[in-house]
Amino acid sequence: MARLVMKFGGTSVADIERIKNVAQHVKRELEAGYEVAVVVSAMSGVTNQLVGWTRETSALHDAREYDAVVSSGEQVTSGLLAIALQDIGINARSWQGWQIPILTDSAHGAARILEIDGTKLVERLAQGQVAVIAGFQGLAPDGRIATLGRGGSDTSAVAIAAAIGAERCDIYTDVDGVYTTDPRIVPKARRLARIAFEEMLEMASLGAKILQVRSVELAMVHNVRTFVRSSFEDPASIPRNGEPPGTLICDEEEIVEKQTVTGIAYSRDEAQISLRRVADKPGVAAAVFGPLAEAHVNVDMIVQNISEDGSTTDMTFTVPTAEYERARKVLNDSREAIGYEVVQGSTDVAKVSVIGIGMRSHAGVAAEAFRALASKGINIRAITTSEIKISVLIDASYTELAVRTLHSVYGLDKV
Ligand code: ASP
Ligand code: MG
Repeated sequence: MARLVMKFGGTSVADIERIKNVAQHVKRELEAGYEVAVVVSAMSGVTNQLVGWTRETSALHDAREYDAVVSSGEQVTSGLLAIALQDIGINARSWQGWQIPILTDSAHGAARILEIDGTKLVERLAQGQVAVIAGFQGLAPDGRIATLGRGGSDTSAVAIAAAIGAERCDIYTDVDGVYTTDPRIVPKARRLARIAFEEMLEMASLGAKILQVRSVELAMVHNVRTFVRSSFEDPASIPRNGEPPGTLICDEEEIVEKQTVTGIAYSRDEAQISLRRVADKPGVAAAVFGPLAEAHVNVDMIVQNISEDGSTTDMTFTVPTAEYERARKVLNDSREAIGYEVVQGSTDVAKVSVIGIGMRSHAGVAAEAFRALASKGINIRAITTSEIKISVLIDASYTELAVRTLHSVYGLDKV
């Protein structure tokens, strides 16, 4: 029998009434003939509160105890949903990460899943029992609970789907799919019926906060068809045949109508740092980025010029806003070693990106973006590109205008 993973996020299990609604969604899929494993998040707001308590108790706390505390939110919802299912006559039980087990590495607080033994789950599913799994958690090599980083229950769901060979992983959330861009900025944004793994990975890393980035990577590696849909629909009104509203994240082979550009993403969480008159000699990039990496600063866009006379050049790069001060300090401390004249920076910048696998086979996509931005008087500070993406760094105050402009220039506005 085909297996299905259904994942419900915090807003979908926010209270008892909503948990009962989730039970109805599960019932519907059982009646459609699936074996069902459900992955749940904590009730909305709970994880934030738990994190807050650990900080309040001590600013510098043991990461293993942090995990003991924050993983509890999912334990509660897994039990409650199992009860709600039993209450409507469905055979169900809850599973904690360690009971399956979901094995992780030792990075408490931001652990990665190493392995899932799906044997016990598959057995129970075959006996007709619904598995309700606490997301966001696993078992570390030290024998203790580890959590997967904020938003990690998406990753739990995709990993479970891969481990049990599910036909699909349905992510129920508070939006009904993935849009061409943020509908709060562009009301004409369209819901995408399908998006390729690679495109979704770019969208997620670039700030479309629908799925944890790691979950998309996993889905891509294991080819887990992942369907983003809303839990707010009335379970009874969902058509039996035909696709419900949502977005399927899948292999590009499954996408028949390939658009050149699929979506526009943006991130205001960017800061720019420029080193002026850096000695242009072998080893300077290593001297700049080595110490930053050691200080766990995530560097994103990097622009370096070639000096005219081989003496000095400028180097610009971006870091997440939260890491800006740390980066400035690291650079000040290693000024001698690097050998630059001044460092300048700004946190008032944003990155806007144009994404689409169709770019691989179409010329002129970048030129079109630059022309459109120029026509609105938007200055570009830095540019980076990949095979399926063009990103520009601009003044933060132009973010919305840039997103709207690019969205319409590539014909993404709803007709
Ligand atoms: N409850 C966890 C969080 O809020 C995990 C998740 O919801 O995905 O980050
Ligand atoms: Mg989430």
